[in-house]
Amino acid sequence: MNRPRIPALGLMAFTLFAGPAQAASPGNDPAALARIRDTAMGSNYAWERTADMTDLIGPRLSGSKGAAAAVEQVAEAMRQLGAKVTLQPVKVPHWVRGLETGELVEYRGRPAGVTQQVVLTALGGSGATPAGGLRAEVIVVKDFDELKARGAEVKGKIVLFDVPFDQQMADGGLAGPAYGQGSNYRVNGPRVAAEMGAAAALVRSVGGANYRLPHTGSSGLQDGARIPAAAVTVEDAMLMSRLARRGPLAMRLVLTPKILPDADSFNVIADWPGTDKADEIVIVSGHLDSWDLATGAHDDAAGVASAMAVFETLKTLDYRPRRTIRMIAWMNEENGTRGARGYLDAHGANAGKHVGAIESDNGAGRPFGLRASVPASASGLFAPLQAALQPIGAGVFQRLDALSTGDLSGLERAGVPSFAPLVDTSTYFNYHHTAADTLDKLDPDNLRRHVAVMSATAWFLANVEEPVGRAVVPAAAGH
Ligand SMILES: [Zn+2]
Repeated sequence: MNRPRIPALGLMAFTLFAGPAQAASPGNDPAALARIRDTAMGSNYAWERTADMTDLIGPRLSGSKGAAAAVEQVAEAMRQLGAKVTLQPVKVPHWVRGLETGELVEYRGRPAGVTQQVVLTALGGSGATPAGGLRAEVIVVKDFDELKARGAEVKGKIVLFDVPFDQQMADGGLAGPAYGQGSNYRVNGPRVAAEMGAAAALVRSVGGANYRLPHTGSSGLQDGARIPAAAVTVEDAMLMSRLARRGPLAMRLVLTPKILPDADSFNVIADWPGTDKADEIVIVSGHLDSWDLATGAHDDAAGVASAMAVFETLKTLDYRPRRTIRMIAWMNEENGTRGARGYLDAHGANAGKHVGAIESDNGAGRPFGLRASVPASASGLFAPLQAALQPIGAGVFQRLDALSTGDLSGLERAGVPSFAPLVDTSTYFNYHHTAADTLDKLDPDNLRRHVAVMSATAWFLANVEEPVGRAVVPAAAGH
């Protein structure tokens, strides 16, 4: 009985020494998921990449030098980690901001010689006024119904949509839907006003910012009906509303943006190859472009950096996934989603080989867990992932029929389940698309939690036995 114990000890010693080499494929073992979480929580990699993007490059609007520099910077960082990097060419809109001023020049009770400056910023895709500006009467409406009711007054006027952002909704955990309600007027208001003959359109800034900061974003205007369009600050929209109630209000508006020919740009695609199922893909992603007023720290340098950091986590642990994990830094999410469309054109036929796609694009607030468009029957499969994320307060699993996010919605419609960190966005819209979306607004601990959520989720999907598939959307829910 003694003899067998000696070789057994010898075998045990051998196993211990062989440990690091064998640790390459620990699958979805709870200990492996916990190690991924802890490694992410101990790393500054995502913070460093976010700082590189925001401090060294700055704004990254599609077509700009900043966007081109970001492509190079992210590709190089991925190469340094040892990923296989591809730059996928895409043509992007190239809109460039010009001068932008507003001045209230006529209103009842105006002392002689007095005018008032309005703080505003052009919306993406806005048309231009004459160089010297345009002067027109302003009509203030609270919604589309009022605009229609006053249709006879619109021609030649500047229309202001004075629609408040529902901060109470945002405080209650529904910042996304609140933003959707407000941005509906930014995206559709200028077009509707243009169709009714307005000379220009203004919207009350969407979001909770109350330091007189305007909030830009895409206007939805198209060639042929490209009137000047701008967002005024919440404070100035309220002022204009009050003055319009006293009597006729007129303003001088100067907006001189330009639309240049579409520019050459790229999605950055970096692969961390899988082992036995290398042809199946899990996407982790964020978008590389940002609006031009600030450095896009929350939106979306933090998302890209969190996706990049998934590889750093796995490299640190020397973990190889069964399926290939693909990091994508999408180009042009903000004003065209040409990057997402380009990817779909090139890889849509292969959608069936994509077992899941993750994008972080809701800012770097504290993550509470995960949102996922998987079938209800699959929710239980994620219990080990939830258990691994619970110690950092990110164990919630919110199942939805569809996430419908900007870059992933095409893949989602093609049958690929979408995933996104479920984050606290109650203050996100104070900064998002304003001049205040800068690195100092990010919390390094929350960014590490993002990396932990992204890394553990990507790993889980890359090793799960059978792909979970996407939620079946009831016909009535289709758009
Ligand atoms: Zn974004």
